[in-house]
Amino acid sequence: MVVSVSGLALVSKVGLMIVNGGRYGKYKLCLADGSGVISEHTKWQDAVEAKARLTHPEALNYVLSLGYEPEEIRQRLWRALHILSLGYVDEIEPGRDYEVESESEAELFYRVRRPARSSVLECDCPDYWRSYTSGQCQWERYENAVVCKHVLAVLLFEGAYRSDKEGYNALG
Ligand SMILES: [Zn+2]
Repeated sequence: MVVSVSGLALVSKVGLMIVNGGRYGKYKLCLADGSGVISEHTKWQDAVEAKARLTHPEALNYVLSLGYEPEEIRQRLWRALHILSLGYVDEIEPGRDYEVESESEAELFYRVRRPARSSVLECDCPDYWRSYTSGQCQWERYENAVVCKHVLAVLLFEGAYRSDKEGYNALG
């Protein structure tokens, strides 16, 4: 059954999930209770785009509006959109302290913090510290600071794309 997306109320009630179609290589955007398929995609990124268009259109539009970004940053941005669309970002102290659930491992949480006197976020995931010590994944648009997918998810959650938002480090 393919569900018409006019049923947005239904979508917000039961949520959405992306299901990997296995050997057919298709990704399906489904209602989270398994009752219907909204769309099918050959690429994971297209499925995330379709999902984010329904759950976080502003964040999606921001990511789509970016110009050239290094491939490693671009990949992390899509992962961040996915994390955001899963509702995995939890605000502990606005602007300072967040908990982000792992994209791949249930019940694993990372802490994303903006230390005092700092405008950029830090994460305690292994990927962040690997990038930090090797000097990789520094994002030019973000004060050249290191970004992992959790940091990016928090930036999107905060509405970093809104340059008029006060108190946050708006991205260009
Ligand atoms: Zn991280």
